[in-house]
Amino acid sequence: MTDTADQPLPPANGAGGTEHRFPCAQCGANLRYAPGQTAMTCSHCGHEQDIPGACEESRSAALAAHDLHSALAAPLPEADIEETRVLSCPNCGAQVEFDAAVHSAECPFCATPVVTDTGAHRHIKPQGVLPFRLREEDAKQAFAKWLKGLWFAPNGLARFARRDNRFSGIYVPYWAFDADTDSRYSGERGTYYYTGSGRNRRRRIRWTRVSGRVSRRFDQLLVMAAQSLPRRYVRALEPWHMAELEPYDPQFIAGFRAEGYTVDLGPGWKIAQERMDEIIRQDVRRSIGGDQQRIHSLDTTHANERFRHLLLPIWVAAYRYRDRSFRFVVNAQTGRVRGERPWSWIKVGLAVLAAALVIGGFIYLTEFA
Ligand SMILES: [Zn+2]
Ligand SMILES: [Zn+2]
Repeated sequence: MTDTADQPLPPANGAGGTEHRFPCAQCGANLRYAPGQTAMTCSHCGHEQDIPGACEESRSAALAAHDLHSALAAPLPEADIEETRVLSCPNCGAQVEFDAAVHSAECPFCATPVVTDTGAHRHIKPQGVLPFRLREEDAKQAFAKWLKGLWFAPNGLARFARRDNRFSGIYVPYWAFDADTDSRYSGERGTYYYTGSGRNRRRRIRWTRVSGRVSRRFDQLLVMAAQSLPRRYVRALEPWHMAELEPYDPQFIAGFRAEGYTVDLGPGWKIAQERMDEIIRQDVRRSIGGDQQRIHSLDTTHANERFRHLLLPIWVAAYRYRDRSFRFVVNAQTGRVRGERPWSWIKVGLAVLAAALVIGGFIYLTEFA
């Protein structure tokens, strides 16, 4: 392994790529996107620079979804591709773009030192971005509040986390899929009826064979296109308000990191179909009706499948506590949080013991009173 910690990393973007760096007009320092605004600010001199909004026509052109099947069959035109230089984490596999000025880096997802330069990657260009709304201070407050509410956490945790809560602002890659689905199903409808009376009254179910059809339009079904965070984890950060989507503009990324996608379009579509299937099964149950439902067969056809590649904002803090890493993530648009936490087994044990004593005491009282 080569040690690159003392040397500047290669430029964040390779040939043809866009540099996510914007020098301040007043002092030349790097501007940084200001969460919640359509502007970048200079942390050095305070200068503010507006991000000019696109006109309606170019907005909708930039955000127009690609046809899924042609993208799966052949590479997209060169205009939809970008070449980026990323570092990949040897521990969790995240591929994160780093600023050229960064001299040493730690994986923002698992706090592992990152030294592997995997070179340039050809990627589908992001089309849309949900800009950050929450500032780092907001994320820190959310973290402090979450810590306070934790039961059975080790005593030292709060103190430790306060000292070490460095947050990274990351744009996480997503695929957003549109599709029209039409599903034929067969199954059974269960209806309750009762036999007997009084104490012998029993509930029984009468099953009737049914079949039918449901259809649904899926609009921007989201699939995280990376594996750096567990999927159930990021689903807990939903919903996202897609109305705030902006056409991709590197000025929104200035001062933040963008993670490259490591789940390709094909596998992403597969995950999307599984999520669609869950929702369609709920539709089928509603369509069957009755008190209980059985689904024997379900045959879905998809049409008008389209996709967009989007970047969604999260604040993440990876902290190591007693040699294990834990993560805390915040939806940087809505403030919804999800965290991993250590447990104090001594505290849990004491609580169980206390509960046992209370129950034991109660039994003692009722037995011998
Ligand atoms: Zn400045
Ligand atoms: Zn990592």
